[in-house]
Parts: sequence; C-alpha cells; structure tokens
Amino acid sequence: MKITKVEGFIVQVPIRRPIEDSIHQVPVWGVPGVRISTDEGITGTGYTGTHARGDDLIVGAIERYYGPVLLGRNPLHVKEIWQDLYMGPLRWIGRSGISQMAQSAIDIALWDVIAKSQDKPLWQVLGASKTGPIPTYNTDAGWLNWTEEELVSDMLRLVDQGWRAIKMKVGKPSQHEDVRRVAAVREALGDQIDLMVDANTIWDLNTAVTTARLLEPFHLKWLEEPLHPDDISGHARLANATSIPLAVGESIYSKYLFREYMSQGAVGYVQVDVTRVGGITEWLEVAATAATFGLPVIPHHGDMMQVHQHVVAATRNAPMLEYIPWILDLFVDPVDVREGMLYLPDRPGASTEMRPEAFARYRVV
Ligand code: MG
Repeated sequence: MKITKVEGFIVQVPIRRPIEDSIHQVPVWGVPGVRISTDEGITGTGYTGTHARGDDLIVGAIERYYGPVLLGRNPLHVKEIWQDLYMGPLRWIGRSGISQMAQSAIDIALWDVIAKSQDKPLWQVLGASKTGPIPTYNTDAGWLNWTEEELVSDMLRLVDQGWRAIKMKVGKPSQHEDVRRVAAVREALGDQIDLMVDANTIWDLNTAVTTARLLEPFHLKWLEEPLHPDDISGHARLANATSIPLAVGESIYSKYLFREYMSQGAVGYVQVDVTRVGGITEWLEVAATAATFGLPVIPHHGDMMQVHQHVVAATRNAPMLEYIPWILDLFVDPVDVREGMLYLPDRPGASTEMRPEAFARYRVV
C-alpha cells in the first residue's frame, strides 16, 4: 500500500453558546485536518482541534512540509513515518504547537488507514484492554461565563442525564468567587458526584497554593492546569502543598516533558491528548510511561472523543473519557454516549470520517 495523495482541510463548527475559561473566549471550534489517500482505495482522516485561530498554519505545515515526506510511503510503517516527520522539515522551528498538531492529524489519519485496511475498529487493532461501556465525565456545563445560577442548574441537568463526574472552570479574578462557585456546585451535587476544576494555566504559584487550600473541603477529584505548563517544578511544589491531585496534559507536546512531570511528582492525572502530542503513536508511549508510575490517563480531547475512545479502550490505565458534544454532527459514526457511558464503535477505522453534507457545510478551506 502506498500513499498517493495528502489533502488538508479546515472545518469550523459554531458552538451553541460561546464559552469562556480563564484565558479563552471560544465561539467556534476549529477542526484543521488531513485526508490521506492510498493506491488501495483506502482514505484515512485525521484532525486536531483549535479555537479556530491558526488553522491555516496547521494545514500549511501538513500540505507544504509534511505532505512531500508522506507521498509514496506505506501507511503501515506509521512509526517510521512518525520519526521522519518529527526529525524532518520543521524540527528546527517547532517541536510543539502548530507543527506537532499537524503531525498529530497525520498520525491519526495513518492509523485510520491501518484500521480500515484490517476492516476493524482501531481499538481492536491496537489491542483492547476493555470492551466498554467506559465512563465519561462532562465538561460542557462548567464554563466561567455561566452565572452561578446557570452553573448550578446546568450541572444538575447533567446529573439528571446520567453523568457521575463533572468538571467546572475556575480562575475568576477573585479566588473567593471561585470558592463560592465551587461551594455552590458541591452543595447542589451532594457527595456522590465526582467534581473536577480547571484553571487553564492562569495562576501563579502563590494563587494556586492558596486557592487549592481553600478548595480542599469540597473534595475535588483534580485541579487541572493551575500553572504555566512549562513550570514543572512549580507543579511539583503545588502538589506537595495541597491534597488535591493535579491534572495536566493539554498543553504538553512531548513524552519527555510528561516523563519529567511524572518523575517529579508534579501530576496525578495524565491528560495527554492525541491531537496535541503527535498522534496515537506518541500517545501510546506516554500512556505506557504513565503506567510505570502508577498514574491514570484521562485524556483531554481536542478530537471530541472520536479517536480517544479507541486509545482509551486499548489502555489498561485509562479509566475514563472527557465528553463535550460540540462537533458530533460532523461524523459518520459519532461517539455513542448514553447516561454518561461510552459504547465502543464497530465500524472499521478511527471514527474520524466525516459526513459529506456536514463537511461541505462547515468547511472553510
Ligand atoms: Mg483543560
């Protein structure tokens, strides 16, 4: 099998109601990606996830720099191709961000080709560690621009729909407002629902330590991205200063950085994301490293679960998935989540194929 064509695309999907966290305002979800065709008639799709800014740079990296490396190659040699891309045309100017997200989209498309060539869903090709259903936690009710009343009622709505784990944003200008909002949600939810909070890297170490200690009475499952993602020793000091486990991963682009977080005791939940870290190939290495530290992997999902359901099913130390239902409409085989549980797909591939009507409607390039 040989790769015959590499075509980039940009799809952008408006979000029902624009959301905010401590550092972002997001009205539209960006889905820049790639279709890789082969001489055997199999086409694979891969993509990453953005706030619909810089999508042209990611697709430019795919088409202008990585595409020529791919043409004529056998997609089954995915790990060799990964290394050639990583050591290849953009290495001098980027090992994270745009270049690594471009590489992620390509790697996902190649694994989609591989699974389709075996006529199996990817989770079976990778070797399943579980067959489902898999628990999910819901992020789509805890936004920072929701009033306290909206926050509480939206959280209760999710519990009514079956979720047993929910995440909310923190990082308001006043830490006391954060504490009030978390207290209101915890009181409404009771003790039986897992609650996580996410600061999206806004705090310095002092703010993180004092806020974390104020939040400890609300028995949170984790505190996500409290500090700048490059500040590994800061995370280690924070982890020593609070009983709340830390979660990081969506801003980390390399297995080496993940290993440093793990070896310094700076992370409790590993949120490695296939759309950021370089695709499925690198994700599996990070997850295996996490297993040696006894750490669970609960990925951030720039793909909105379509790909992560496969790698989580194939990973023993990955007990749960994140759920945000913003782009379900795009896919031929959208994730099947009922009452907070995910049911694994039977269709061959990585669940990345898009419906032609939806693709045409949302495509911008
Ligand atoms: Mg986050």
